[in-house]
Amino acid sequence: MRRSPGKRLERLGLERDWDFLLHLPLRYIDETQLTPIARLAPGEEQQAEGEVVACEVTVRGRRQLLVRLADESGELLLRFFHFYPSTRQQLAVGRRVRVYGPVRGGPMGLEIVHPRVHAAHAGEPLPQRLTPVYPSTEGVGQAWLRARIGRALRDVEITETVPAELLAATGLPPLAEAIAGLHQPPPGVDAAALARQQGPWWERIRFDELLAQQISLRTARARRAERSAPPLPAGGALVARLQAALPFALTAAQQRVRREIEADLARTVPMQRLIQGDVGSGKTVVAALAAAQAIDAGCQATLMAPTEILAEQHFGRIVQWLAPLGVQVAWLAGKLKASEKRAAQLAAASGAAQLVIGTHALIQEAVQFANLGLAIVDEQHRFGVAQRLRLRSRAGAQEGTPHLLMLSATPIPRTLAMSYFADLDVSVIDELPPGRQPVVTKLVAAGRRDEVLGRVRAEAARGAQVYWVCPLVNEGEDESTAELTAASAMYEQTRALLPELRLGLLHGQLPPAEKTEVMGAFAAGAIDVLVATTVIEVGVDVPRATLMVIEHAQRFGLAQLHQLRGRIGRGAEQSFCVLLYDEPLSEAARERLKIVYESSDGFEIARRDLALRGPGEFLGARQSGLPLLRFADLERDVDLLEQARGVALRMLAGHPVQAAAHVQRWLGARAEYLVA
Ligand code: ADP
Ligand code: MG
Repeated sequence: MRRSPGKRLERLGLERDWDFLLHLPLRYIDETQLTPIARLAPGEEQQAEGEVVACEVTVRGRRQLLVRLADESGELLLRFFHFYPSTRQQLAVGRRVRVYGPVRGGPMGLEIVHPRVHAAHAGEPLPQRLTPVYPSTEGVGQAWLRARIGRALRDVEITETVPAELLAATGLPPLAEAIAGLHQPPPGVDAAALARQQGPWWERIRFDELLAQQISLRTARARRAERSAPPLPAGGALVARLQAALPFALTAAQQRVRREIEADLARTVPMQRLIQGDVGSGKTVVAALAAAQAIDAGCQATLMAPTEILAEQHFGRIVQWLAPLGVQVAWLAGKLKASEKRAAQLAAASGAAQLVIGTHALIQEAVQFANLGLAIVDEQHRFGVAQRLRLRSRAGAQEGTPHLLMLSATPIPRTLAMSYFADLDVSVIDELPPGRQPVVTKLVAAGRRDEVLGRVRAEAARGAQVYWVCPLVNEGEDESTAELTAASAMYEQTRALLPELRLGLLHGQLPPAEKTEVMGAFAAGAIDVLVATTVIEVGVDVPRATLMVIEHAQRFGLAQLHQLRGRIGRGAEQSFCVLLYDEPLSEAARERLKIVYESSDGFEIARRDLALRGPGEFLGARQSGLPLLRFADLERDVDLLEQARGVALRMLAGHPVQAAAHVQRWLGARAEYLVA
């Protein structure tokens, strides 16, 4: 046995015996059978035993070690492109060995490339069980893992945490049977099915994993309910004045969601609510009213947005609404001058700023609030779980936990709502403000660009504005996208084609001041055509823009296309979105573009997108901070998830000690994340 691989195990999350027990094989090697060489079949992994009759290194063509192995029935060639002196010793002529690997037909008959090799002793019995192959990392050998896990299997008594009557109702096998069976499958089981994670043993594992998740989420929810938040009663003067000052009446959906938030904020339990509403449904004003309610109660509020452009736009709009009513609004972004940052931080810490709007800087910089009552996170899916929670932790200590309001245009699929987001209350704005005409979407091959330019001229001629969207900034940023038209190149090209129009260029690499200037000029109508990258994807609101052209549309994600398209159709006029695509278009790309063409409903698009991609991408790397599921798959395991949810509730109600033990077993230290 090799030395303990120590630190490297941490990377695999392996520390306690239970971590090893739950480190399950990727696949299996069947060393329980020996096949006579003459009966080896190409295309399968098989094991043979024989004596080495030749062993030589050839240098003809590629340098390699060729070994001939013989038994009574025939001869087999073993081929090694990488080998050590020890390999040659192990395979010296006259040695008896067992070899295992995929058999294939080669130029000199049947052969195995890089077989597993074992010295064989006459009469040595074959293993009684399949040999597991574990997920591993450099420096952690299979032999070491097998031995360590074998020890855990001997040392640990695998007890049931799920009460017998609840387990019986699921029809799943005992945990001890599942874990032992998966690590050391008896001969005769279908190893291929196990490797595909099929069968009742795997189901039991997935169920237990989902159960741990459900219990910990419920526990987090219960703990939150025990914390106290500053009560922010409804009916204050600022809310009434803001509502009266708005240039429009709230839609019925906005009013309903507004009331839900109003009631939450008045309670002493911290709110944790998500507003879902399609792009353009008017989430910002609902958030502003919530902020006003906090300010009415003498607390501060903060609003965090994922991009500087969006945060700045919120700042501009909200200042316009609230400053005339005497509210102090501060602005904080990473790119501010040090002195400006300090001023904003001071205003937050002293309580002089009643509302602080900004970007990630709100959590990165050392911002402390005097008495934060409400934290608002716009486009919440752009932030990681940990980031959202950190914003709330900036409150002054004596004030308790602030209320948390999140906004998102991306609907959460049902399975995710039941799992990762089970700790949220959700409000849906399912209505657009009146007078909006749905955007007309057109699919146009890039070859017909001239027609599109004609359309741009016509729009500009009648005083409307145009977005021209490109996927990236500079050519050669990334080899795979080098052929794409870059925004800067596009800008030059478009300027040459439309010399009579006023063009602007906006991309992520521009200095912030320039971004602000360009965006301001576009909003003021001083630019006809804004050539931009996806920096305008979220939240940007210029109602006079009625045409959007998206270059290389097949390169964008569906949610992204929908978000981009949401930048137009914000006024009362008919808007058009032209998706310029490059030919030939793959079948998959055509299918995806068709979805955006056919539907203008973000929820419908997300549903169909999810069906094409699965939920993994929805969660994405940004959700890191939550222990992701290792075995369960939220699409495939909906039924198990439902079962686990039911069992979680009953365990928490009737068997809290077992419930806690179950979470501990599965998540160990990681359980803390969920409670943060
Ligand atoms: P989103 O939900 O995508 O964040 P916004 O909050 O940016 O949408 O609102 C989109 C536009 O609709 C803004 O110009 C906003 O002022 C306007 N708006 C919001 N609510 C209404 C309403 N009830 N009636 C008319 N316009 C509204
Ligand atoms: Mg928005």
